[in-house]
Amino acid sequence: MADRVVEQAATAPATTAPVERVELLVVGAGPAGIAAATAAAGAGRQVLVIDDNPAPGGQIWRGGGPAAAERAVARLAASGAVVAPGTAVVDVGPARRLFVRGPTGMRWLEPRSIIVATGARERFVPFPGWTLPGVVGAGGLQALVKQGCDIAGRRVLVAGSGPLLLAVGALVAERGGRLVAIAEQADIRRLARFALGLMATPGKLVQALGLGRAVGSRLLPGSFPTAVRATGGGLVVSVSSGPAGSEKTGDLPCDILACGFGLVPNTEVARALGCRIGAAGVWVDEDQRTSVAGVFAVGECTGVGGVEKSLVEGRLAGLRAAGLAGGDATLRAQVRRARAFAAQLEKTFTLDPRLARLADDDTIVCRCEDVVAGRLRGFTDWREAKLLTRVGMGPCQGRVCGTCTGVVFGWAPDDVRPPLVPVPVAGLTTVPGS
Ligand SMILES: Cc1cc2nc3c(=O)[nH]c(=O)nc-3n(C[C@H](O)[C@H](O)[C@H](O)COP(=O)(O)OP(=O)(O)OC[C@H]3O[C@@H](n4cnc5c(N)ncnc54)[C@H](O)[C@@H]3O)c2cc1C
Repeated sequence: MADRVVEQAATAPATTAPVERVELLVVGAGPAGIAAATAAAGAGRQVLVIDDNPAPGGQIWRGGGPAAAERAVARLAASGAVVAPGTAVVDVGPARRLFVRGPTGMRWLEPRSIIVATGARERFVPFPGWTLPGVVGAGGLQALVKQGCDIAGRRVLVAGSGPLLLAVGALVAERGGRLVAIAEQADIRRLARFALGLMATPGKLVQALGLGRAVGSRLLPGSFPTAVRATGGGLVVSVSSGPAGSEKTGDLPCDILACGFGLVPNTEVARALGCRIGAAGVWVDEDQRTSVAGVFAVGECTGVGGVEKSLVEGRLAGLRAAGLAGGDATLRAQVRRARAFAAQLEKTFTLDPRLARLADDDTIVCRCEDVVAGRLRGFTDWREAKLLTRVGMGPCQGRVCGTCTGVVFGWAPDDVRPPLVPVPVAGLTTVPGS
């Protein structure tokens, strides 16, 4: 299949993609990108914001949100920043030129500076049955329900790790779904310590209490799915609970299993730009500057820490990219607090090593190319496995299976290759205009 695409691209006639010069380009219109663009445009900069979704809002404000979300989007619209929805970065050329795919075709953007605000995505852990119909991402189910999918009366088991599970469980209950349980792999001690830490941030504590009330006693700390099978009447999920060595396993029937094991930063655009990547995500200094001159990074792509972190980092980078320095001690303090909270999240929801051992030899790891765990054992790294098994070479380009192999084998994808998102073959034949 990939050979066919390359062959067609090589034989198709090249067309000319226009080049657009931009003062400041913001990649991603989630809370971080919105805050960055609004601040920079408010300071008089010419700003273009691109996002592959049809409307600004990112993951959390997808399809609308609370009043604060509406105010943020309205401020962006009033700021003078131009928003280009349905537009994604496909590749990075020399001198920081970005090749983008938009609703009207391909074009090159030539920005003077860039703010990368590409957010995060869900992390999946492979276990027997995780690719069956009815098993979906926790965030995936949230997006489906927000877009109108009816779950009234359906039995939903939410499993995995992180605060997103509570938000999904509360949404299921609110929309008339029957929440079976929330299997959270972090144990009760870690959750209790995290909850105590929230005392320092009353806003987050109130939010957590509200979500906790909505899900009630259905939260099962220290639990995770080990296998799922389909029966005539839906799914049956085997759930393991308790510390290593004294686990108990029970079966929970459901119609939908919504699974997500935390979030991983989307670092592909930053990596293609040559930015250094740290342990938490794109490396940034205290002003959100990356290791590449003229490139800033903000929000979840620099480390998963929630919407407040995205908003304050976005604002700080917007001001810095606009050339405004100093005079914002409060903002910097907010960024420091938000980063400390991100570190707390990371510590609380670190994955239990037992999760790495759930996949048996027949468990699919790469869904795009149907590569099972048994085929991957014996390789020493991602690159070798990719070359010999095609893992990570399908349409998701390793976004899903790359993190799966990170959990199971400890591999880290070592390179980023174009196209960063799927593009029509005709798009691959375009060359820069003048
Ligand atoms: C699936 C999911 C569900 C979540 N649900 C909740 C929730 O209910 N409550 C909560 O508090 N937090 C939730 N979070 C966490 C939440 O996303 C963050 O707290 C916050 O939205 C992060 O804002 P951000 O702007 O940094 O990133 P995001 O909101 O993720 O925005 C990043 C944007 O960049 C765009 N993008 C990425 N790559 C490209 C590219 N190559 N070209 C163009 N555009 C690109 C994406 O489409 C996206 O719109 C969720 C996260 C995920 C992944």
